[in-house]
Amino acid sequence: MNLSRRIYRLSPSQLSAETIAVTFAKTSRSPEPFDKIAAELDAEKSSKFSEKWIVGYGHSSVAEHAVLHLALENISRLAIETLESNRLASYTEKSTRYQEWNPDAWVLPPEIAGSRFEEKYCAVMRLLFQGYAHAMTALRSWSESATERLPDESEKAWQNRARIQAVDVARFFLPAASMANVGVTINARALEYAIKKLLSSELEEVRQIGAEVKAVATQELPTLVKYANPIESLTGIRESLRAQSRRIEALPDGSWCRLLGVEPAGEDQVLAAALLRFSEKSYAECLAHIQSLDDRQKAALVGDLFKQLGDFDVPLRELEYAHYDFELVMDQGAYFEFKRHRMMTQTPQALTTRLGYAIPKAMSLAGVEGLHRRAMSAASELYEELRELHPEAAAYVVPNGYNRRVLCRLNLRELFQFTKLRASENAHFSIRRAALRMAELAVEAHPLFCSKLCLPSVETAQSVSEAYFTDVCAKPEISR
Ligand SMILES: Cc1cc2nc3c(=O)[nH]c(=O)nc-3n(C[C@H](O)[C@H](O)[C@H](O)COP(=O)(O)OP(=O)(O)OC[C@H]3O[C@@H](n4cnc5c(N)ncnc54)[C@H](O)[C@@H]3O)c2cc1C
Repeated sequence: MNLSRRIYRLSPSQLSAETIAVTFAKTSRSPEPFDKIAAELDAEKSSKFSEKWIVGYGHSSVAEHAVLHLALENISRLAIETLESNRLASYTEKSTRYQEWNPDAWVLPPEIAGSRFEEKYCAVMRLLFQGYAHAMTALRSWSESATERLPDESEKAWQNRARIQAVDVARFFLPAASMANVGVTINARALEYAIKKLLSSELEEVRQIGAEVKAVATQELPTLVKYANPIESLTGIRESLRAQSRRIEALPDGSWCRLLGVEPAGEDQVLAAALLRFSEKSYAECLAHIQSLDDRQKAALVGDLFKQLGDFDVPLRELEYAHYDFELVMDQGAYFEFKRHRMMTQTPQALTTRLGYAIPKAMSLAGVEGLHRRAMSAASELYEELRELHPEAAAYVVPNGYNRRVLCRLNLRELFQFTKLRASENAHFSIRRAALRMAELAVEAHPLFCSKLCLPSVETAQSVSEAYFTDVCAKPEISR
């Protein structure tokens, strides 16, 4: 037996994803080297093994070694939501910040095609996309006149800066029906669950995508996604909770961003856990010690945790022992970015036009506020009508400008990562406002740690609201 160290790749260009997973699975029982195990496998043997061990005996984690790269093109951004709700995967999609949308790049959902609403739906889509194009032109010339060219800046760089400002604002017109492309890297275990969720959707487009993804994945993974079927229990759960939700009594409107739950002793818990890692004492002993320190001593310890962290270093994992529950109302454009933070638990409500919409200040300054208001009102009117036809499909018509409610839980470590990316000055102003408000509330709750968050020195959520929005909760005018 060769006992010298070997480190090498099993190449997906030579072995199928399923064969690689089976090769790794077999090392649990076989003393042979991986390349030898792989050489003895063929598609049939791999499939037989997967069927027996992974599917039959439930050793499902082995399927995580089979990784696929899936390219999905021209699917609605609404469908992308269901796909991206699977957090154990990697996604990169067409950006509303860097690309402009083609006027025909929207989906006509099967629920609406052929219905009495088809014509009106198509008319509203044209209105939204024409509004987008018109606003883009107006915003671009406004942005060029409002953006000073820097001394060393090339004409192209300056124009690009101005263009990005325009794109950031015009995107408020884009509806959830807008088409986008998304690249997905996902392992077979996560993919099986993703397909089940897609197949269980209440939207036909999403179910069709589920069936196509399953067919494409089966070419590479003949066994591992074979049993990905709709989740039957979801139907009953949806019915029961919707019936219950109709009995909820309304309360006066709360704030748009609320910190719902936070442990007052969260900072002590994080410090105690960090201490435990580097001591031989129990958690109770570490916590008692931390609680015996005064604020100045605790602050010094927190300081030590951050003192030598570089820009690309992440804080210790023990920061995960403090967590925060937030309820937020943010525009759909911001939510589309928010949902990409996979280390959060997120519960979004369905898209609606009933929570008002945002009007970016640039829209008013560029003279297209009226156009925006008319487009938002038309979308809302159709949304209300479509709810009667198919409540879930009504979401296709909701533009990025409309607000959406989401509940989320994140730990302190994720709060650092989230605010670093989303409170930074190059983040879009909508999500920047949300990230800043979340950070402000977290600082009030846990000042020792949260004062270390990477936040801009001058901006606040309030100053972003004032600088970038004419209104964050405008109400649509319904002509009926
Ligand atoms: C400037 C900028 C431009 C962007 N442009 C685009 C774009 O054009 N298109 C687009 O689709 N998205 C874009 N994004 C979104 C970006 O790709 C991320 O999806 C998003 O910012 C979430 O960041 P995250 O992965 O760090 O956070 P989370 O998903 O919350 O993860 C937190 C941390 O956990 C770790 N982690 C989580 N999952 C994994 C994993 N599977 N593998 C390894 N580590 C993991 C990482 O350390 C990560 O930082 C952009 C983001 C920024 C900031």
